[in-house]
Amino acid sequence: MINILLNPKLNNRVYQDDETRELLEKTIKFFENKGKVKCKEDFHERAWYRDFLDFQKENQLFYKFLTPPEYGEEGCRWDTYRNCQLNEILGFYGLGYWYTWQVSILGLGPIWQSKNEKVKKETARFLKEGEIFGFGLSEKEHGADIYSTSMKLIPQADGTYKGRGEKYYIGNGNEGAFLSTFARITDNDGNIEEVKDKSNYTFFVVNSQHENYECIKNICATQNYVSNYALNDYPITEDDILSKGQAAWDACLNTINIGKFNLGWASIGICTHALYESLNHAAHRNLFDHYVTDFTHIKQLFMDSYIRLLSMKLFGLRGIDYMRSASKDDRRYLLYNPMVKMKVTTEGEKMMEQLFDIIAAKGFESDTYFEEAIQAIKALPKLEGTVHVNMALVIKFMPNFFGMMAPYKEFEEIPKRDDIANDDFMFDQGETRGLSKIQFDDFSKAYELYDTPNVNIFKQQIEAMREFMTKATPNMKQADDFDFLLKSGEIFANVVYGKLILENAKKYDIEDDLIDQIFDVIIRDFSQSSLGLFASPTASKKQEEYFMKMIMKPVKDKKRFNRVLEKYVYALIDKYEMTP
Ligand SMILES: Cc1cc2nc3c(=O)[nH]c(=O)nc-3n(C[C@H](O)[C@H](O)[C@H](O)COP(=O)(O)OP(=O)(O)OC[C@H]3O[C@@H](n4cnc5c(N)ncnc54)[C@H](O)[C@@H]3O)c2cc1C
Repeated sequence: MINILLNPKLNNRVYQDDETRELLEKTIKFFENKGKVKCKEDFHERAWYRDFLDFQKENQLFYKFLTPPEYGEEGCRWDTYRNCQLNEILGFYGLGYWYTWQVSILGLGPIWQSKNEKVKKETARFLKEGEIFGFGLSEKEHGADIYSTSMKLIPQADGTYKGRGEKYYIGNGNEGAFLSTFARITDNDGNIEEVKDKSNYTFFVVNSQHENYECIKNICATQNYVSNYALNDYPITEDDILSKGQAAWDACLNTINIGKFNLGWASIGICTHALYESLNHAAHRNLFDHYVTDFTHIKQLFMDSYIRLLSMKLFGLRGIDYMRSASKDDRRYLLYNPMVKMKVTTEGEKMMEQLFDIIAAKGFESDTYFEEAIQAIKALPKLEGTVHVNMALVIKFMPNFFGMMAPYKEFEEIPKRDDIANDDFMFDQGETRGLSKIQFDDFSKAYELYDTPNVNIFKQQIEAMREFMTKATPNMKQADDFDFLLKSGEIFANVVYGKLILENAKKYDIEDDLIDQIFDVIIRDFSQSSLGLFASPTASKKQEEYFMKMIMKPVKDKKRFNRVLEKYVYALIDKYEMTP
């Protein structure tokens, strides 16, 4: 198997070109030179990461990675593959550093999607000068309900506007050169008219250093700046407006599509570093005449943690292929993308909880990476839409994924997309409607590629699930029972997860032992969610029978377990330790 877990000391990554290699290696070096002690000190002091921003400015990191070629110099491109490599590295060293990059990505989304050439050119100039950006969507009162946006853009008699209102939870609001701000255009008296369509939404840019911009405070007690800002009659002209009406609405959702993918990759980075730290600690701790790594239950916890991380990575990598190959005719990424956000980040949480059970008291110590990581991992499922909101989205695809409402479609094989290319489609995704029309390929083809014992058991679980869907279909009342829907979504998510993992297994030369161990975990997760559905108060007797059929256990194979443990999991002991 190609070693696919990041190890900054091994320098074992495949980079697409010399400049990418140089920039990513320099980023690793920046953190290793800064060292764990200083990183942790800054984390505890909540020090604004001027050093990192200076580093990125000096090396034009964000400029190269976040400027489409038509607005930048040679080497500039928006390339999801290499952006994910950077996500992973930044998550690996500290979520705060990742956050300033992430919200810059979100802030750039509505800009690169707009037709405002003036702002786009200025943005490229700002990027080159090392500036950062922000995405002003959330408000204090409305949470996920962006329909109720109350930031106002008030038309003036001279044809200009005034921006008035507050935004809340907005990253980089202390320094952002442009904050893409989502608002509603009012009548001349500043009243928001309630209209049925999306005609009064708008995106415009503001500068955090303008005198009518007020950075009220950092809402979070963190190193990164999560601002509450106010626009106090901020003067806006047409030159500052990025989009209006449906285009502004679409830019909002399409930006979140781009941004939320990164959350899964930050999780992967966090979990990878935490795994090294936990393994090193456990392997050298001797209790009751045993090394901690020798306890049977610790072996199982490490095994499951490693397997969850490997699955997260295989799924995330395959997700990149679909993102980069997306087009108006192939919108399957709209299912895989929220899965990278929702499933990968929640798998990250599960994995970290398992590691916490191993590392125990050590995980509270202020000089460990773990102490920071266990907090950070909890943030990711909650950003860019909560797990519930993303699950609600994922469920919409269930009938078509199973070929029940729309027939399967033949697609060309999607190759590994680590090539050098700008991801044009990400900024031309078009309308956000029509999800129910999106067609899928037959998922069972991916499963047919393998017949290991646990993959075969999982195929039986899927069959039982399909029987439930066709022979004991949820009724109208259950369709409104969000709790029931969420649990159904959990089991469905496992099927999608398995498909992409298997598609990637061949590409990354994953051996059957590992595949079987991956499905050992998936079978148990599927069974647990099926039990949740069985216990649901609204489940009918007939449905209960199917849910019981869906509960299965994996084949235990001690030899396989030990082979994987020694060859892959415990082989990582002492392989990475951050420079002090
Ligand atoms: C550290 C941090 C940084 C952030 N940075 C930014 C940023 O830079 N820019 C920005 O615009 N925002 C930012 N946010 C906001 C973030 O995107 C929101 O927190 C997120 O969208 C969820 O909103 P909420 O937390 O207010 O939850 P709420 O919307 O208040 O939701 C409350 C509960 O209701 C559930 N719920 C809500 N709607 C639905 C629904 N339709 N279906 C099912 N369940 C539902 C939710 O799952 C949740 O459990 C940030 C938040 C944090 C914590």
